[in-house]
Amino acid sequence: MNDSDRKNVVIIGGGPTGLGTALMLATRGWKDIIVIEKRPSADYYEPDKSFNYQIDGRGQKLTDFLNLTDQLADLSVPNTDFYLTLIKPDGTRKVTKLPIVDPERKTAYWLPRASFVQLFYQEIETYWQDSIQVLFNTNCLEIKVIEDQLTVIAQSPDNEKLTFIPTLLVGGDGLKSIVRKTVQKTEDNSNSFAMQMFPSPSSGLRYKVLTLPPQFPLSEEEKDTTNSTMAYAIRSVFKEKNKAISLGLLPFKNPKQPRTANIITYPDHQIWQLKRSEEVKQFLISAFPQIPLEKIVSDEEIARFTCSEGGQFPMPQFSSGVYKIWGEPDKHKGTAVILLGDAVHCFPPDIGQGVNSALEDVYIFQEILEETEDNLSQALPIYQKRRQDDIKALIRLVQISYPWQYNQDPLQKKLWSINFFIRLILSRFLPFIFNPHSFVLIQNHELSYSEILAKSNRTTFILLSLGVVGIILISLSIFLNSNLV
Ligand SMILES: Cc1cc2nc3c(=O)[nH]c(=O)nc-3n(C[C@H](O)[C@H](O)[C@H](O)COP(=O)(O)OP(=O)(O)OC[C@H]3O[C@@H](n4cnc5c(N)ncnc54)[C@H](O)[C@@H]3O)c2cc1C
Repeated sequence: MNDSDRKNVVIIGGGPTGLGTALMLATRGWKDIIVIEKRPSADYYEPDKSFNYQIDGRGQKLTDFLNLTDQLADLSVPNTDFYLTLIKPDGTRKVTKLPIVDPERKTAYWLPRASFVQLFYQEIETYWQDSIQVLFNTNCLEIKVIEDQLTVIAQSPDNEKLTFIPTLLVGGDGLKSIVRKTVQKTEDNSNSFAMQMFPSPSSGLRYKVLTLPPQFPLSEEEKDTTNSTMAYAIRSVFKEKNKAISLGLLPFKNPKQPRTANIITYPDHQIWQLKRSEEVKQFLISAFPQIPLEKIVSDEEIARFTCSEGGQFPMPQFSSGVYKIWGEPDKHKGTAVILLGDAVHCFPPDIGQGVNSALEDVYIFQEILEETEDNLSQALPIYQKRRQDDIKALIRLVQISYPWQYNQDPLQKKLWSINFFIRLILSRFLPFIFNPHSFVLIQNHELSYSEILAKSNRTTFILLSLGVVGIILISLSIFLNSNLV
């Protein structure tokens, strides 16, 4: 980019989308990029946001562009080495290799959110300090429209008001995006920037995270400890719907990193009703007698867990508007706004596409900047047109792909498994007619979300048609047989 073309950029949100966009723009030659992030640091540890990401081929389009995939691999556990130990209520254990990895696809990498965001931040610190400034502990309070330009008002750590007038404003500020809400308010008669909500069997489930020591004991036997790169599912002895519980641990590369156990269950589950640490401790000890829980979880952690509000899986949702332009930003007299990542599409984590779709947004934005020679007035409408159908398809894929995985309903989970294996077997023998389940197709980063949904719908249509033909043939033969008799 020429110096005369220089545009100043403000990015709200220093998560994967915000820092990824900052690096993408800097790599393209943009300068004057400010990222506003309310958290105190890139690797700030928030127990209830300490989930693991699986960065797949889709997310790696951006890390490849940024030349960061090798470093990503160094920090992660590859999905090709994903082993799960199931610890049953009676203490017996079963180790399985994740069965649905497609060996022909790019290796995906598991790492904690904090490590991934830190990877981006370290890259900024090492190579891009002259182009990118990240303001931590800084909260974007308000965005005002003043004479065809947007003014961003933020509060610094020492309570000073900071004001910015960007040429490009990026909303990378997640589900409750202040950028999206500001744009929505400026639209008088349109709902384009309101989130459209869709139901899913997994939305509304509550979750909390229990932090456990790095290699905690699994029994009283010496050396019988967890392995950091192994995933664990520990099932409770309780069987009743509102008492049964499971601890889910995803793998970490770093053996010294504390483990995080996800507890995900219905809003009316007994564990959420317990208000005192002692009650929670007793509940967990009686739920998991097969592991030495008292030796594993400290009283302080139980107290923190009890007080924590945890979170709730959101409904699948998206906003159909993803950009708006005020004035003429390419002539330095206006502001272009683009919304990326969770700010514009958000859903429960069933198919692990939250971060990957966000990184793909940034990658596609970069492709279009390349095509339009960084002309925002041209790039943003093209971006919306190209991405809109994929976002809609992604929301539908979240609804149908694997919402029953949290043991909400054993019958629905069984029906899902039958459907999954029918599609898997038919697609192996008749690949030109049938496709595997969308949960497998998602791994193919070369297919867009719209293409995956189209393939999934086509197989559903063929299976339903075969079902209808089968029912007609059976009814006909029963009818003919009864007439002959
Ligand atoms: C329980 C749970 C589990 C999940 N598990 C997975 C998973 O396994 N795999 C997966 O791919 N995805 C998962 N996700 C989704 C994933 O976390 C998101 O899709 C992803 O983080 C989106 O990145 P983002 O940068 O767009 O938004 P965020 O990660 O939400 O980042 C937004 C950033 O903006 C900052 N911010 C917000 N408002 C302001 C403001 N006013 N001023 C300054 N800063 C602000 C926030 O502090 C935050 O750092 C999960 C989500 C949840 C809730």
